[in-house]
Amino acid sequence: MRTIGLEEHFVTEELAGYGAGTSTIAAPAVWAEASRKLLDLTGERLAAMDAAGLDVQVLSLNSPGIQAERDPSVAVTRAAAVNDLLAATIAQHPTRFAGFAALPLQDPQAAAKELERAVTQLGLRGALVNAHTQGRYLDDPALRVVWEYASGLDVPLYLHPANGVDTPHVLADHPVLTGPMWSWGCDTAAHTLRLIFGGVFDEFPDAKLLLGHMGEGLPFVLWRLDSRWAFHDHHGIDLARGNPSEYLRHNLYITTSGVCDAPPLLCSILALGADRILFGTDYPFEDMATATAFLAAAPISEADRAKIAHGNAERLLKL
Ligand code: MN
Repeated sequence: MRTIGLEEHFVTEELAGYGAGTSTIAAPAVWAEASRKLLDLTGERLAAMDAAGLDVQVLSLNSPGIQAERDPSVAVTRAAAVNDLLAATIAQHPTRFAGFAALPLQDPQAAAKELERAVTQLGLRGALVNAHTQGRYLDDPALRVVWEYASGLDVPLYLHPANGVDTPHVLADHPVLTGPMWSWGCDTAAHTLRLIFGGVFDEFPDAKLLLGHMGEGLPFVLWRLDSRWAFHDHHGIDLARGNPSEYLRHNLYITTSGVCDAPPLLCSILALGADRILFGTDYPFEDMATATAFLAAAPISEADRAKIAHGNAERLLKL
């Protein structure tokens, strides 16, 4: 079955330093191995895809990417350069790769324009955003222009985790909890709720948000979000769709990246519908073959398996 992965990372020598603060998420030898794989675009990666039965990788710059750059003008230049490199790589292997742009969100207008250039001139399929940008989240009024362009271009923004601005008190003295095992998921789910309650999806009703890691826990809590929101008289917030869960059903798409486990997949299908779930591996941080084997064996209908493997991606990303 044709299989398309949506959370497939790479990095360049020039940009690898932005990820230094993330190296603590893995044992040193594991990080070194992942770093080596991130730098390879068309060698070992293609062989691993062939071995795993992964037909297409939608490539994205590894977290935190350009967003860790403090100088906005450097971010603008480097985002354009890495998007050009990505487009050139895809042009060499158009049947094996597609891509999500990196955006210099430090400069919102430039980020919107770079998204437009990436989609209309480079053929990229949207953008991947790594959490906050120098403390600014995607519901910030200054970043509405990025949503305006994404909506107008009809491309998704993929919200991927990164280290938070600070360490929440509850995680203090437990570094094991900071990173992809726990804090990144909480942080990304909270960021998503900021978008809902911050009115982004009321201003851009058909904006498309992608989340990895089986929706960062959100498919599990739809009913409780609605129930406890009502319990507090909606906190004085008016939501055009009526309930927070409606946004998660309408604006949200999720990928299976980094979660090779049937119970959360079945929950997500029941909560959001199979049309909202797309395949991803989180390469090189998860094993590609483990992910494709999980999808092949998951206890779901063949129709749903085809949607998740490729049908939904072909429709959402116009592949
Ligand atoms: Mn990832």
